This record gives sequence, C-alpha cells and structure tokens, in this order.
Amino acid sequence: MSCLFCKIADGSIPSTAVYKDELCYAFSDLHPQSPVHILIIPREHFASLDDTSAEDRDLLGHLLNTAALIARDKSLGKGYRVVINTGEDGGQTVDHLHLHLLGGRAHHWPPG
Ligand code: 5GP
Ligand code: ZN
Repeated sequence: MSCLFCKIADGSIPSTAVYKDELCYAFSDLHPQSPVHILIIPREHFASLDDTSAEDRDLLGHLLNTAALIARDKSLGKGYRVVINTGEDGGQTVDHLHLHLLGGRAHHWPPG
C-alpha cells in the first residue's frame, strides 16, 4: 500500500498522534492553517468521501463524533470548523479520506 495516510495510520511514517482507536487515527497537520489543525482519518482506506456509501455511515458518524471529542479536549468551546476536501475542485491533495479539524481562530465564510 503506497498511500501516505495509510502509512501514517500504521505508524510506518511518523506523526504527532492526537487520538487513536480501532477505527480511526487523528494527528497534527504538518502545515497547520490554524492554531489547532488536526487530521482525522479512518484506518480503512477510502480515496475520498466520494468513495464511501451508506454502508459506511457508522464509520463516518464515528469520524464526526471523534472531531467533536477532540474539539472538546482542545477546549475549542468558542467554535471550530470541520472540513472534508473532496476531489480536484474540493482541493483534496491526499487521496485518503480525512477530516480537517480547525480551531483557535475565527474562520471566515465563504472559504477560498
Ligand atoms: P487535503 O489538501 O488533501 O485536504 O489535506 C491534506 C493535508 O495533509 C494538508 O493539510 C497537508 O498539510 C497534510 N499533510 C500532507 N502530508 C503530510 C504528512 O506527511 N504529515 C502530516 N502530518 N500531514 C500531512
Ligand atoms: Zn490510505
């Protein structure tokens, strides 16, 4: 498996762990765009959100629950943003489904 995030999830490429369980792994983004910038990935490989289906709804829900759990742990009570860039127009650069958890500053709308 040549996927960067699969290798990060299995520990063969180092990362700064934030949270882990049997279904997902969360780690600090290498190039943070906000004071808190954490990536949450499923251990199972999906190329993108577009690679998921109704069968994956429990896992997708777990990823969102995990984002909220980490946000609480990081004291982001003022608010935060969860982003899933998907495909070329979505700005996705790593082809393994991931949620960005961004916090610690105000985030504007619309995004770029
Ligand atoms: P995307 O643009 O696909 O939505 O997000 C990919 C994210 O992965 C980017 O924010 C980028 O900084 C991050 N990233 C890329 N390579 C690495 C890496 O090797 N380690 C870590 N921790 N983050 C990475
Ligand atoms: Zn992968």
